[in-house]
Amino acid sequence: MSTSVRPEPKPGVMDIAAYVPGRESAPGAVKVWKLSSNESPLGPSPKALEAISHATDHLALYPDGSATKLRGAIAEAHGLNPANILCSNGSDELLGLLAQTYVRPGDEGIFTEHGFLVYRIQILAAGGKPVVVKETDERADVDAILAAVTPRTRIVFLANPNNPTGTYLPVDEVRRLQAGLPKDVLLVLDAAYAEYVRRNDYEAGIELVSSSDNVVMTRTFSKIHGLAAMRIGWMYAPAHVIDAVNRVRGPFNVNALAIEAGAAAIRDKAHVQKAVEHNEKWLSWLTHELSKLGLRVTPSVGNFLLIHFPENGGKSAEDADVFLGARGYVLRRVVPYGYPNALRLSVGTEEANRGVIAALAEFMES
Ligand SMILES: *Cc1c(COP(=O)(O)O)cnc(C)c1O
Repeated sequence: MSTSVRPEPKPGVMDIAAYVPGRESAPGAVKVWKLSSNESPLGPSPKALEAISHATDHLALYPDGSATKLRGAIAEAHGLNPANILCSNGSDELLGLLAQTYVRPGDEGIFTEHGFLVYRIQILAAGGKPVVVKETDERADVDAILAAVTPRTRIVFLANPNNPTGTYLPVDEVRRLQAGLPKDVLLVLDAAYAEYVRRNDYEAGIELVSSSDNVVMTRTFSKIHGLAAMRIGWMYAPAHVIDAVNRVRGPFNVNALAIEAGAAAIRDKAHVQKAVEHNEKWLSWLTHELSKLGLRVTPSVGNFLLIHFPENGGKSAEDADVFLGARGYVLRRVVPYGYPNALRLSVGTEEANRGVIAALAEFMES
């Protein structure tokens, strides 16, 4: 061929570093504990599994494109109007839909220094410009975010609690952020870990969505509900946002098994409570044990911990990752999040938690 004319992706696409999911295997290890993607060690509610098995009788039929049953179950669990709920193929899909709906080429989208990587990807995919704001003490800084707003800002993504730090913004700070934003800037509160938070000054965002026109809250069934493989997310949003995103989304973006599984899972309050209690117990145990090993841990309210390794002495995060991997403990490296010398550890089963601490103790002594 003499010329090299070919279809070219639109500007921004080739600037995206494709998302790399947490590893699930460890070469050479006999047994593997996957502690790299913040999945639930308890797995899904047995009621969700039962609902999935019934749903397989109807696989030839398209699912309900409005996911009415799932929206109804979510609305009931949270005391919301189902008209203000929109479901998605994982909440990651929603983050993309919101960017596609509101960010024009050249517009700016804001997120913070150690914020979730999907925000950058979706802003770039929409043709927008990612604007990264410095954090203070590993926490989103409201004044810094407000200072970064320009006339081109269309969207602000805030994970609360944030992944991978596990830190959170109290409700007063989130309110201050909303109050300081121009009314035409959409504030996306990504509350993927909301159920785990045990703090009186935390709110996932329901009240703020209800009382304003420019806030949405996104949630997921991938974490506390143990249904990451089913891909179920949802948002609570003002009617005008629901209306706009409904035009952009795929008509059957939530599959029939997901609709049934999600509805059964959110009704099983006892299972959710069990997962919350398991996390509360082991998050604090892990935090304590890691500190005893001389490792600094960012205080987390989620179902994971960010572990910082010493800068020198041959005990780097990379060395730890290799050492733990060989013993079957798969953690998450967080280099693209601006943490070259830290690992993120998801709270696991009792066996995994005790095992990973024993392995880390061995590593620190080696
Ligand atoms: C895990 C996670 C999600 C959930 O993604 P799904 O697509 O619903 O599985 C969203 N936001 C953050 C910050 C997360 O860590």
